[in-house]
Amino acid sequence: MLPEDKENNLAIEVKSLTKKFNDFTAVNNISFSVDKAEIFAFLGPNGAGKSTTIKILTTLLKPTEGKIRINGFDPVKEQDRVRKSFGIVFQDPSLDDELTAYENMDFHGVLYNLDGDLRKKRIEELLKIVELWDKKDLLVKTFSGGMKRRLEIARGLLHHPKVFFLDEPTLGLDPQTRNQMWSYIVDLNKKEGITVFFTTHYMGEAEKIARRIAIIDHGTIIKLGTAEELKKSTGTNSLEEAFLQLTGHKIREEHSSPLDKMRQRRRMFHR
Ligand code: ADP
Repeated sequence: MLPEDKENNLAIEVKSLTKKFNDFTAVNNISFSVDKAEIFAFLGPNGAGKSTTIKILTTLLKPTEGKIRINGFDPVKEQDRVRKSFGIVFQDPSLDDELTAYENMDFHGVLYNLDGDLRKKRIEELLKIVELWDKKDLLVKTFSGGMKRRLEIARGLLHHPKVFFLDEPTLGLDPQTRNQMWSYIVDLNKKEGITVFFTTHYMGEAEKIARRIAIIDHGTIIKLGTAEELKKSTGTNSLEEAFLQLTGHKIREEHSSPLDKMRQRRRMFHR
């Protein structure tokens, strides 16, 4: 394979990425790549640098240094092309509670300039996949946490993104909803060849869903490989043990910013 063929096969390419907030280095010279149609997990304790990396990959933050390509496009110089090629589900819900499920989808479709008929067809298809078609005319404020997450997933996929970013998409959901949510995503990955890049604190999810896993701590990738490789290299029997061995047992709450803490509290009350 020629080097350029290898690059063409990459959905995400990150070389020597660093992000500094004043004197503090949140992401420290990381490099990795994700193949097209791969499911890739990005794991790390609180404050490790996961969200900062996702924000850079999705054009929300500018890197301090490094080279990035999403579907071959540069998030710094080709923001529009990059934005059209990915979908995202954030940690914090971003739906409009006062609109119906259908209206939330439709609004997003308009923002992405999806043509009317195509938009209708795709909204129906996706709401059926996430089993919300019969609830399409209900106001989102009447939805449970699990229903809102499913709607966010459907919305994130409306414009046929090639790469789907999910930042702790299952936080606060019960095991049944988590399981169902991942089965939609794995299905979409198989049917549409979507590349999936996700973060989670549930090691079981990463082990079951991801082809490869990167473990990041203090802004640095400390291991990258399949769950089997991570277990083997640490001499452990589960991904959780491997993770704790690599990142330590110390609780990282002191690393989270006041904003993170506020978010965590908000999530607790919205469960
Ligand atoms: P994670 O998603 O792994 O929990 P983050 O990427 O949110 O971690 O944060 C990494 C580190 O960068 C943390 O110590 C966090 O407090 C810090 N950080 C994140 N955003 C900012 C910011 N805008 N200004 C200053 N520090 C930040």
